Amino acid sequence: MTWSLMIHGGAGRIERGRTPPNVEAGTRAGLLAALDAGAAVLAIGGAALDAVETAVRVLEDDPHFNAGRGAALTREGTAELDAAVMDGRTRAAGAVARVSYTRSPVALARAVMERSRHVFLAGVGADAFSREQGLEQVENVWFVTDARRANLAELLARNPDAYDVDMKYGTVGAVARDAAGHLAAATSTGGVTGKCWGRIGDSPVIGAGTWADDRSCAVSCTGAGEFFLRAGVAHEIEARLRLAGHVPAEAVAAVLEEVRALGGTGGVIAMPASGPPVWRFTTPGMSRGLADADGTRRVALFGDEE
Ligand code: ASP
Repeated sequence: MTWSLMIHGGAGRIERGRTPPNVEAGTRAGLLAALDAGAAVLAIGGAALDAVETAVRVLEDDPHFNAGRGAALTREGTAELDAAVMDGRTRAAGAVARVSYTRSPVALARAVMERSRHVFLAGVGADAFSREQGLEQVENVWFVTDARRANLAELLARNPDAYDVDMKYGTVGAVARDAAGHLAAATSTGGVTGKCWGRIGDSPVIGAGTWADDRSCAVSCTGAGEFFLRAGVAHEIEARLRLAGHVPAEAVAAVLEEVRALGGTGGVIAMPASGPPVWRFTTPGMSRGLADADGTRRVALFGDEE
């Protein structure tokens, strides 16, 4: 089996002419750094699970993306972070929602998977578990950047009830197949700008924004979470592969069309148990990258890039 790693840094209105050159350059550099970090794990025979966590941690620390530092802000101007990880070998999974002080939410999701008997922890309890486990803690304001404050101010001035996903996605995710043929997926996000009332999107929900099963594929999503939740996107893609005999491109396209029919847009990365991975999006662009054992190493942002 040859290893392969695909990442995303969110889908949305990422278009030539709308993306300032410094943002484009920073986003590409961030994607490459994450891709290289994850690929380095796989290249020495490391596990898919370690590779996806490693890649996502790099993106969480990079303020160009809506996860960890640089997360989209709640209506109150705070960061509430969601993340999930899943191991295709065993379908072990860990997820957290609305965490406020853990520097790496994806590392916390992995701790839930490996060091608790639960799958999904939220809010103050997830923060308490994080402290108990000795994960790195930061002040909430550490996640808050001027760019995200400006996004929030713009949204509140325009229409506080707007669903801003088309404007500023940036959720991050990774899917990998390691040299032993095992799959894993991870996703991390700040959610959507201006969220309130404890809103949680698809990203941390196992089967909606994140899924991995060695029998079929690993999936990480980005997009309008409310619609991805209702389509059960990640599990729906894997079920189409495993039960309906779809090829990955066909399954991903069909499920994104289901999301569109419900009223949502976004993107998906999917790593099959064998064969090449797939990325696809129904937004103008999606930040994305691919590295593999054959020497592929490329990132892209816009819809007209390969
Ligand atoms: N899917 C994420 C959410 O709804 C948003 C994103 O992809 O940026 O929370």
